Amino acid sequence: MTMEQLYRQESERLAQAGVRDALIDGRYLLLEAFGLNMAGFLAVRHQELCEDEDTREKRRRYEALIRKRETRIPLQQITGVQGFMGQEFYVNEHVLIPRQDTETLVELVLKEQPFRQSSLLDICTGSGCIAISLAHLGGYKQITALDISGEALKVARRNGEALLGDYEGCLQFVESDMFEKLTQRPAFDIITSNPPYIRSQVIEDLEPEVRRYEPRLALDGAEDGLKFYRILADKCRSYLNPGGCVYMEIGCDQGPEVEELFRDRGYEEIRTVQDMAGLDRVVRARWNEPQQEVYHV
Ligand code: GLN
Repeated sequence: MTMEQLYRQESERLAQAGVRDALIDGRYLLLEAFGLNMAGFLAVRHQELCEDEDTREKRRRYEALIRKRETRIPLQQITGVQGFMGQEFYVNEHVLIPRQDTETLVELVLKEQPFRQSSLLDICTGSGCIAISLAHLGGYKQITALDISGEALKVARRNGEALLGDYEGCLQFVESDMFEKLTQRPAFDIITSNPPYIRSQVIEDLEPEVRRYEPRLALDGAEDGLKFYRILADKCRSYLNPGGCVYMEIGCDQGPEVEELFRDRGYEEIRTVQDMAGLDRVVRARWNEPQQEVYHV
């Protein structure tokens, strides 16, 4: 049997289990089990597999990975990585797996906010993918990233160390339920967030990979999915410098409602931006007034 035949056979098991991109996942897991990169695989895929113990061990490892994926554990939780904005982020079951959709938000900030001196707050940071990408690609040197989950922040810190090296002083991670721990009322030029935005009752209809294995805390936006946009619309007014902007990822049907929440509270230059699939994905709003007094919602 060749490697090509082996991976096609095993991918068929994934397809039977309902995995959507069975061939792609089957190949990634093969690379993982055999310790190959894509070029290495392409070079040897039509050769007969050896019968030695080393190859048998790799095949057993591959089988085990396929069995795991058959249970619908996300590929990225098995391999431990997900690419985002050209870098590899470590992920586990405590963080939302970075989505390509979210790159739209990062790209918009990079396009609209060229000043490296800008201070930036990332709320619901999860794996840290937004904050770390902006530190890396935008060169911002004053970033605060918050998450309610201490386990998520362990992942974010690990990514910060791996991808930014010594990030102390330029990026700080704080365990906080939304703005709760920002007691000194620092002001920011930019606020970013990919908050949980799925309506609670819709979560059960999502793919098993998402509903069983990704953290519900990172998905559930309460009954109408808008819970965290209400908090953001209320509170960003107290944490933005005059002229500061907030950038939020949204569900593709939430643009008009989120825009309205921000319009009602006095933000200006509100705009919805589409992702690569042409779906509404990011809402941006500007706060042109002085900072509001902090009050607790
Ligand atoms: N984009 C994610 C999904 O569709 C949801 C992300 C979120 O709630 N912030 O599964």
